[in-house]
Amino acid sequence: GQCITHCPVGALRERDDTEKVWSAIADKNKTVVVQVAPAVRTAWGEELGMKPDEATVGKILDACKRMGADYVFDTTFSADLTIMEEGTEFLKRFTEGELKERPMFTSCCPGWIRFIKSQYPHLVRQLSTAKSPQQMFGAAMKTYFADKIGVSPEQIYTVSVMPCVAKKGEREMELFHGEYAGHDIDAVITTRELVKMIRSAHISPGTLKDRESDRPMQQGSGAGVIFGVTGGVMEAALRSAYYLLKKENPPADAFKAVRSPEFQANDGVAEAEFSIDDVKVRTAVVSGLGNTRALLDKIERGEVHYDFVEVMACPGGCVGGGGQPIHDGKELAFDRGQNLYCLDEKAQLRFSHENEDILVMYQEYFEKPMSHKAHMLLHTEHVNAD
Ligand code: SF4
Repeated sequence: GQCITHCPVGALRERDDTEKVWSAIADKNKTVVVQVAPAVRTAWGEELGMKPDEATVGKILDACKRMGADYVFDTTFSADLTIMEEGTEFLKRFTEGELKERPMFTSCCPGWIRFIKSQYPHLVRQLSTAKSPQQMFGAAMKTYFADKIGVSPEQIYTVSVMPCVAKKGEREMELFHGEYAGHDIDAVITTRELVKMIRSAHISPGTLKDRESDRPMQQGSGAGVIFGVTGGVMEAALRSAYYLLKKENPPADAFKAVRSPEFQANDGVAEAEFSIDDVKVRTAVVSGLGNTRALLDKIERGEVHYDFVEVMACPGGCVGGGGQPIHDGKELAFDRGQNLYCLDEKAQLRFSHENEDILVMYQEYFEKPMSHKAHMLLHTEHVNAD
């Protein structure tokens, strides 16, 4: 393999998993279920000569179906699920006084998880226990969805299309569910591998149509879409935390101060403080591991204090991920990120807690955020040793 030098996650090997996916598609005993992460839609069209507004997620879903996937979903759905769990967890840890000394950190970026475990092991307990949207979706596919379509978890083969090389390692995380012990996710392909598959299937981009995600995990909010850009997880979580506290929605853009349009300004850190009634929440958002180290050292020296911190290993967040198309010397993370903010602005649904398919799934399966079942399937305890 070739070493991906622009990937901040370290000496990751470029692993090609497209053959694994083709074999699963060819296996009649497998039900192949695909999810596509938010950031992928901002970049896949670059290599296929499509304009940003032509290269929709609906066309990726269509391509996956035409290549033989049985069901296709948008990870935006499970980003909303992550917000339900992580937002609830944050408010619980915050109100119980657990974050007085140190903040809670987001946990959806495997590059960051690897970094904190090796460099700041004493901070690992500050991580949210919520699994990432990729892993939560895999868990829901092999339980709730498998039940719905009357197939056993063993028959479900979960594939995710990610902007990220580190997600291939995150996949190793285990899922235990009754008799089933296996993985949430069976194969991860990057945006580049997706493009390779579309090419080898001889699908011409001009023939792709916008296809909706399958039911019953169809809806996704604008809050879920911005997970792919730095600041997005924090903003989505705050929109819902506000609702959980006040029982009414804030204006959808009330928390846009956490966006950091110039990722490299202010050492890559966007700080913001919000008052929700008499509750004051101090937040910081950082991307890039060099910036992250500087921020953690400041926190450790007591120079700054936050309640909730979002960290993404790649500068600009997943839009700039190591699995995205590479253009020599051209930094596209900013434009790709703006694309996601634009999709959020145009979305009918701006709040994760208003995703009706998520609410139905809680009603029928997970009960409520942080329930026993949610803990078993949607959370994980991070431990120091990898
Ligand atoms: Fe992967 Fe996104 Fe983290 Fe980069 S920021 S390592 S693309 S999860």
